[in-house]
Amino acid sequence: MHSLFAKPMIELKGVGSKRAELFQKLGVPTVGALLRLYPRTYEDWSQPYTIADAPLDVSCAVRATAESVGAPVFSRSGLMLIHVCAFDEDGSTLDIVFFNNSYIQSLIHTGKIYLFYGKVTMSRGRRQMAAPNFAEDGTCPGMRPIYPQTKGLSTRVVESAVREALRLLPETLRDPIPPQIRNEHSLCKLGFALENIHQPKDREGMEVARRRLAFEELLVLQLGLLSMKGRSRKKSSFRIEDNCLSSFWKLLPFSPTGAQKRAAEEAVRDMQSGLPMNRLIQGDVGSGKTAVAAACCFVVIQNGMQAVLMAPTDILAHQHFASLSSLLEPAGIHVGLLTGSLKAKEKGQVKAAAADGSLQLLVGTHALLTKDVQFRKLALVITDEQHRFGVGQREALAEKSQNPHVLVMSATPIPRTLALMIYGDLDISIIDELPPGRQTIQTYCIDSGKRIRALHFLQKHVHRGRQAYIICPAIDSDSDKASVETYTCRLRQVLPDCRIGSLHGRMKSSEKEKIMQDFSDGCIDILVSTTVVEVGVDVPNAVDMLIENAEQYGLSQLHQLRGRVGRGSYQSYCILITDAQNEEARARMRVMCETSNGFVIAEQDLKLRGPGDFFGQRQHGLPQLQIADLNNDLDVLKDAQQTARSLLEEDPALEAPAHRGLRAEVRQLFRNISET
Ligand code: ADP
Ligand code: MG
Repeated sequence: MHSLFAKPMIELKGVGSKRAELFQKLGVPTVGALLRLYPRTYEDWSQPYTIADAPLDVSCAVRATAESVGAPVFSRSGLMLIHVCAFDEDGSTLDIVFFNNSYIQSLIHTGKIYLFYGKVTMSRGRRQMAAPNFAEDGTCPGMRPIYPQTKGLSTRVVESAVREALRLLPETLRDPIPPQIRNEHSLCKLGFALENIHQPKDREGMEVARRRLAFEELLVLQLGLLSMKGRSRKKSSFRIEDNCLSSFWKLLPFSPTGAQKRAAEEAVRDMQSGLPMNRLIQGDVGSGKTAVAAACCFVVIQNGMQAVLMAPTDILAHQHFASLSSLLEPAGIHVGLLTGSLKAKEKGQVKAAAADGSLQLLVGTHALLTKDVQFRKLALVITDEQHRFGVGQREALAEKSQNPHVLVMSATPIPRTLALMIYGDLDISIIDELPPGRQTIQTYCIDSGKRIRALHFLQKHVHRGRQAYIICPAIDSDSDKASVETYTCRLRQVLPDCRIGSLHGRMKSSEKEKIMQDFSDGCIDILVSTTVVEVGVDVPNAVDMLIENAEQYGLSQLHQLRGRVGRGSYQSYCILITDAQNEEARARMRVMCETSNGFVIAEQDLKLRGPGDFFGQRQHGLPQLQIADLNNDLDVLKDAQQTARSLLEEDPALEAPAHRGLRAEVRQLFRNISET
């Protein structure tokens, strides 16, 4: 049977070298790959409509009797038309037209009943169908598969190749999913699944097949993710003896929210277990994740160990360093900062202090990942704005120590399905409560004609002592998009009484820092910036976020930007400026104006863009899913995840004969991602 799956396409009946090449283009070099090329969708012929009941403008099957088949007529453009009239027992009629098909007269016989598959449209009060597929009643397949197409390879060609491949399938097929797991989760066998995904007799058969194949896909993915991490939950880690959270809460200038307390308690409990913590703290922008991270660092450090926190940008690393050191230094904790922009000498000092243990908390950017950054007793590794890092970077930080506790924080509220998939083996704490006194940010979408009014609105707030951000997509004026440089000049003319600063990614790190510091100290009223302020930056006195060319950004990014305001007790505003008319952009703006719930926004984003684009394929480094649907397969995902965990616990390398099939699939799937 292995040989069938490995068989090159060209050896399949009906496939010559030309077609084999086209199949190759579709990513199908072998018969095995062909069987795993699942239909994109189906034509459902199994429950045909009557003419009157058929929905308009939607592809569907209609059962009707042919009444007359007209003689060919020619349109002015030379197209040959054949009109067929059909009726059904309700007495409704359907006008059907075929183009350039002289065989129709010999294929459709008056008085016989057919199923016609196509879109019914209404014209001058009559129901019509153009160029439908058709089959004599009683002879048709229940569901016809529609395959992804490539030029020169129609769905029918794929269908017949698949039929040939299915014919060759042996009676007993070795199933990568062991029988015990199949039984436990009521999954059908591989052979049944392949037959019914390609040639289902009805919807149920297809669903049964689909569920099994989705389970298999997610199981293999989870197995791969879990073993790639190679971090078994059985290994022991640094045990925290003293839960001193209560003395940490006393250090804070505010009292923690219930959700913050819960998240910190959960994390500390993990670290007390003696096994490595692996936890994702998920909370909407402004929910106060930093305090939870600080709490965990505090506990670890009071227990005589070290912690490290990695942030995706220089600005954010500086900010964390500033707030964590002012919070923790009074408790006698030494905090250090490491970014790429430090002078060599400073770097050397920080590294030495981390290595000899005199530095208890090190904050930094990915500069932390270099080999010569070492610790004496590193027990806790924290990644902030987790989704900004690739899988590899996350892992590299954890490799600084032997099974350290790992905490990752994400302010992009990731839909739960996606979180489970990407961070398969993480426990999740959700901070679902904002600090008290926050007001909802009011969001408006305007066109550029109202820009001046919006700017005066900002000015009014500046007069009251507040601050504002303006986001432009471009840095200099080469592009037709609003640019930081031009905008800043113009703004100085329009609002001469406001102190205006500008910030972008091409500035030197020390300049960026200075500007951010000035803004945070209130020496700048309005900060014109690119999206470098997008993640994490915290200036509670800022109340306006004005975004130029708002159509440029995805929903999650807009939400992140908006999250820079509304961080204090002042009423805050987000103003989206766009002249874009396209429906997709308008839909995004609508979502922004209607909701401020990050999870709702993330779900919408997933819907509008699809999971592949959600973070950008490269950022999370996951393979494209073939059949599982993250919007609907949450239960399947959970089952698969559970199964993956217990499988690996029982057989970490999947060496048992019963698990070899799965192991082979994992290897195949991850061939491209982990070259290790
Ligand atoms: P995020 O979850 O987006 O990382 P931060 O940790 O930056 O949020 O916190 C946002 C702001 O809220 C900060 O100014 C922080 O000091 C403040 N904050 C956090 N927790 C509380 C709380 N329990 N009460 C009042 N303010 C809080
Ligand atoms: Mg943050």
